[in-house]
Amino acid sequence: MAASGKMTSFRLPPLPTISEIIKLYNLRAQKQLSQNFLLDLRLTDKIIRQAGNLRNACVCEVGPGPGGLTRSILNAGAADLLVVEKDSRFIPGLKLLSEAAPGRVRIVHGDVLAYGMNTAFPAHIAKKWEEEPPNLHIIGNLPFSVSTPLIIKWLEEMASRSGPFVYGRTRLTLTFQKEVAERLTASTGSRQRSRLSIMAQYLSTVNTCFTIPGRAFVPKPDVDVGVVHFTPLVQPHIQQPFKLVEKVVRNVFQFRRKHCHKGLEMLFPEAQRLRMTEELLRSADVDPTLRPPDISISQFRALADAYSRLCREDHTLFSYDFREELRQKRQSHRQVKRQRR
Ligand code: SAM
Repeated sequence: MAASGKMTSFRLPPLPTISEIIKLYNLRAQKQLSQNFLLDLRLTDKIIRQAGNLRNACVCEVGPGPGGLTRSILNAGAADLLVVEKDSRFIPGLKLLSEAAPGRVRIVHGDVLAYGMNTAFPAHIAKKWEEEPPNLHIIGNLPFSVSTPLIIKWLEEMASRSGPFVYGRTRLTLTFQKEVAERLTASTGSRQRSRLSIMAQYLSTVNTCFTIPGRAFVPKPDVDVGVVHFTPLVQPHIQQPFKLVEKVVRNVFQFRRKHCHKGLEMLFPEAQRLRMTEELLRSADVDPTLRPPDISISQFRALADAYSRLCREDHTLFSYDFREELRQKRQSHRQVKRQRR
């Protein structure tokens, strides 16, 4: 449906409550799928407000389940709502909702991790990357086991402007376990600063909007939940390929309590390790005794740029994996031992 179509009323007609839907379709939450539902429509409205103005918007909701957030998205005026739900038990309830909002809801029964979003919406909604974000939003309350791999996939797509980012700087409003939300937004020097903080913040503006206590969900999870909003940056803070940035950041944080040179050393083959680490840190002008959480995004940029220069000089460097070198070394030790026996 055209996202720009005029609409007079967005409100849904009277429907069974979410609790009634759950009873009607026998939708008991499955613990093994980490299903925790939001039944309070004031709370789902509050989450939706964090996404911004949804009037006439295109929205992809991931994991709609019994449809609490879905109703709030429709009541906020979304014109084209695509829901992606893995569990077939929820499809009849979602169809009921779709009948109550004719022409505004499309249902995909599938796994969002495998779903390609690059052709899911009409091409005319696309904006140039440098312009304001498109009127397209991704919203979801997903299980924690899905939201973390999914945000990593979406950050990679943000970097390459693929997937939902073929339409421009698509905004995301997602829930995470509170600790993960804190890591995503952690500033330089904070206890929660981690790999995820750098990967999210070099590509986007990330804000934790508010925390939802675990008791607000049915059934109650063991943890509280953070609602996090992402807006892709026009100009990422680091202008290197995602995989290169990821490799540098992963190496730095593998020894998070040690000086940063320790993790960086593992980017290089043993024979050249000390010399090249020194060269990398000198060229990036980064203090080797900094601890990983104390490294700023601009220092990560300098490290990624310096590592990229070294990779251009030695084409085998980027594919070097210290674990593989270690494995080969152990294997040849074992062989020598066997031959001696
Ligand atoms: N949005 C609903 C709410 O807030 O009440 C349900 C939230 S529940 C935590 C997560 C939902 O995501 C469930 O409906 C579950 O079946 C669905 N889900 C889990 N993994 C999924 C995946 N890989 N792709 C799509 N949906 C998924």
